[in-house]
Amino acid sequence: MIDVSKHYCPNKSCSFYGKLDSGNIRVGWQYGKRKTWMLICGRCNMRFSERTGTVFHGVHSPDDKVMKTLQLLAEGNGIRASARIMGVSTNTVTRWLAVASQHVKEVNDYLMRNLHVEECQLDEFWSFIKKSKSMLIQKTRKNAVLETFGRGRRLAAEPRS
Ligand SMILES: [Zn+2]
Repeated sequence: MIDVSKHYCPNKSCSFYGKLDSGNIRVGWQYGKRKTWMLICGRCNMRFSERTGTVFHGVHSPDDKVMKTLQLLAEGNGIRASARIMGVSTNTVTRWLAVASQHVKEVNDYLMRNLHVEECQLDEFWSFIKKSKSMLIQKTRKNAVLETFGRGRRLAAEPRS
């Protein structure tokens, strides 16, 4: 079965939009090769895939892992330290940060509700992200260029996942 408490209604005009664990999400059926769950919002009847109503739609890592990393950062750990603790590369953390910065509300909700991060920690967290964001992006681009040249390949678009 699937844990619906991590999903929210993706319908922006629904009163339950973005709200986690509100009891409005029903489990529908499975489809496709990967047995993806179809979920239904009981409020507006919107049907959506389990990959849609999560904070990190399109990131191929479990939300938990992403969120725990963000929690570490919110608690004042650096990017390198957090990456080491979670067993991922600093580039991965950088990418998650970039995604997180586009979902401020959802990330805040999740961190506060599920990981009990304090509001003041979140303020610090976002100001940290704001400060380091441009630096991070530059770094990522540089790494992408170096990696690409290292393999003797032509410059490709920045890898996304
Ligand atoms: Zn809805």
